[in-house]
Amino acid sequence: SAPRHILSNFLSPLDTVHTIKSPYLITQPLGRIMLTDEYVKRVYDQVVARDGDQPEFLQAVYEVLDTLQPVIAKHPEYEKNGVLERLVEPERVVKFRVAWVDDEGKVQVNRGYRVQFNSAIGPYKGGLRFHPTVNEGVIKFLGFEQILKNSLTTLPMGGGKGGSDFNPKGKSDAEVMRFCQAFMTELCRHIGQFTDVPAGDINVGGREIGYLFGQYKRIRDEYSGVLTGKGLEFGGSLARTEATGYGVCYYTAEALRVLRNDSFKGKTVVISGSGNVAIYAAQKAEELGAKVVTVSDSNGYVYDPNGIDVAVVKQIKEVERGRIKEYAERVPSAEYHEGCSGVWTVKCDIALPCATQNEINEESAKALVANGCKVVCEGANMPSTPEAIEVYKNAGLLYGPAKAANAGGVAVSGLEMSQNSYRLSWTFEEVDAKLKSIMESIVANSLAASKEYGEEGDLMAGANIAGFVKVANAMVAQGVL
Ligand code: NDP
Repeated sequence: SAPRHILSNFLSPLDTVHTIKSPYLITQPLGRIMLTDEYVKRVYDQVVARDGDQPEFLQAVYEVLDTLQPVIAKHPEYEKNGVLERLVEPERVVKFRVAWVDDEGKVQVNRGYRVQFNSAIGPYKGGLRFHPTVNEGVIKFLGFEQILKNSLTTLPMGGGKGGSDFNPKGKSDAEVMRFCQAFMTELCRHIGQFTDVPAGDINVGGREIGYLFGQYKRIRDEYSGVLTGKGLEFGGSLARTEATGYGVCYYTAEALRVLRNDSFKGKTVVISGSGNVAIYAAQKAEELGAKVVTVSDSNGYVYDPNGIDVAVVKQIKEVERGRIKEYAERVPSAEYHEGCSGVWTVKCDIALPCATQNEINEESAKALVANGCKVVCEGANMPSTPEAIEVYKNAGLLYGPAKAANAGGVAVSGLEMSQNSYRLSWTFEEVDAKLKSIMESIVANSLAASKEYGEEGDLMAGANIAGFVKVANAMVAQGVL
């Protein structure tokens, strides 16, 4: 039977459980609309039967299928063409051994993955994650989300994701380099500028992308835009580093403007994480007039009532690769608290989760609401459990789902691909302006789709529907593949 620790985080609502054969599932129906459309139910049951041991993947699929029901009801051609069955099945999953030698001369073996999920609207595109929690189900959930996210950006990119259970924490630069070279030695057979273009994600930043790019170039003898997030000296785009965090704030600001006639000005913001997304979300939120009072890592969080000094966070995380605890040792006004989930008990107007999946559960969501939080926009992928989302909805929060709110990273990756193809570079201001306009269009397109399908103002339903329709139509047009 499945290890209990896998099940402990599995909160997917399963009204269709009576037809489910998998022994891995627990039933935990929610007080939300259950799957009612027969076709949608059938597809979900099939995913459960096949992938019942992949809780994060089931969670991501359920959330999307739930909100697509009005679209499916209106468009019988999607069932006729088997669009949903095909959407939930990756076009290709590559899983490989990554063997490398550590500084002590010992052989280490990790697992590598690349899930090429959907190429209906462009080459596979999505990041690489290096983290001990990486497994096939985690990469599949991320790849599945990426399909609709990439569609929402309006750029021609399909969905994919990859990574490894390699843990770069405590490894030397030389070990990280040898790992990246070993990883790319296999991955390079499966990617290319016109087929699949990976980028960064958790623990994959500029250093790792540099090593990966170098190895691709060496093996393939080809200098092309096969990865995004590259250094500026070798084809990277200005503003790519900032893009996801800035994009979360542009999205939040636009949603606040349109739906609440409000802005970041004077608001208190709680941010989790202290990596790439968190740092630049904090920087932009402060630029837009808010006070950011927290950042965190997997050990704990810092609370600084004077407002987080982003320059100190950058020095600790980007330069020294240290722990966020050190912030409180350097900034007298800050307190450090052990345990990362405590960050959601801090009083705020706006919460921007920017660390990892399922970091806000029902209890944390209730704590946010009780403390007056009015807005949750997601920088991380799937940071809210289904129960947490339910709490936001019941409390009338403005909720911006990950695949819309954090699409700025992949959007600027798309712009990096364009610049590589043109062999030119745009200025920071040009890229930033394009990013802002893409994030604003995501809000507008999500709201338009939510209205068209009777869910007016629901940014989650709107994002899923707007992202889906474009991909689905392309899949129908291209025939059964
Ligand atoms: P980084 O590796 O730069 O930072 C990750 C941060 O999250 C670190 O502070 C890390 O702390 C924390 N974290 C990671 N795992 C956990 C955990 N299990 N519990 C608590 N904290 C944790 O990654 P990114 O900033 O790039 O990514 C953060 C999130 O944003 C991810 O969900 C990613 O998928 C998503 N995202 C990233 C994009 C990008 O462009 N980079 C684009 C779109 C989404 P610690 O150091 O202790 O591990």
